[in-house]
Amino acid sequence: MTNSVKMLDGRSIPKLGLGVWQATNEQVIEAITTAFEAGYRLIDTASVYENETGVGEALKMSTLPREEMFITSKLWNPDQSNVEQALEDSLTRLQLDYLDCYLIHWPAPSLGQYTNAWKGLIKAQQSGLIKSIGVSNFLPEHIDTLIQQTGVTPVINQIEKHPLFSQQSLSEWCTQRGILVQAWSPLAQGGKGIFEQPEVTTIAAKYAKSPAQVILRWHLQHNTLVIPKSVTKSRIVENIQVFDFTLTPEEMTLIDGLDKHQRLGPDPLEFV
Ligand code: NAD
Repeated sequence: MTNSVKMLDGRSIPKLGLGVWQATNEQVIEAITTAFEAGYRLIDTASVYENETGVGEALKMSTLPREEMFITSKLWNPDQSNVEQALEDSLTRLQLDYLDCYLIHWPAPSLGQYTNAWKGLIKAQQSGLIKSIGVSNFLPEHIDTLIQQTGVTPVINQIEKHPLFSQQSLSEWCTQRGILVQAWSPLAQGGKGIFEQPEVTTIAAKYAKSPAQVILRWHLQHNTLVIPKSVTKSRIVENIQVFDFTLTPEEMTLIDGLDKHQRLGPDPLEFV
């Protein structure tokens, strides 16, 4: 299993990256430095996380060539009618000339703007400010609208996905269209007793891995990309050590069985 995968637009994306939601500007500098040393190349931020400045500082401090990094940011809902300015502001804070990936953060259907926003992303991609364009928290009806209106399919749909909320039908719908599924809150935010589930702890003991590593491995074997968040050095290192073991089909099924259709985040149809 290689550590990156091709997107619909022909570009490659790492299967695993570092999420930085709820990390401060100070915390992300140390977390990203640790992550790059541990082998991470993808960093997932967003303008609403208010830490793009810290991410930018960390990228500037790194000795990695820019082309080895994969930097994702997201367009916040009120900015859907102002893509050009929002993107320029993100690039300025990140001290970058281009983003590897830019996502529309939520469809926010009540705003009625996501198709216009998508046209803005297409334009920015054509002018070289974004390499790949995708969406987050989109349902099939929203993606169908984008494709019908522009003919351009998002390369990624970043959605809430973890063993307690596995979103199987939305994931399959995306996969059938070549859209990569990237899981946010892949570890269910470390809560809801997910690390104590006997199915998970038994498998973890068998492979001498942690429950977090088993869950990340479950995602990867479902061809789901993951962006686990941590600002703790040992956990950042641990979370990428998931490419050296393989769960059996029976173990995959056991973890599949934990699905409680239990969302931690908002409903994409309602969230603005
Ligand atoms: P997550 O599932 O990645 O959980 C993170 C928490 O799990 C940490 O704060 C820590 O408490 C715990 N944890 C992490 N590694 C661990 C380990 N090895 N052992 C034990 N505990 C561990 O949750 P998240 O931060 O919500 O999601 C990941 C990323 O997804 C975010 O940082 C962000 O980049 C992205 N995200 C996107 C959206 C969206 O709407 N697109 C929404 C939420 C998050």
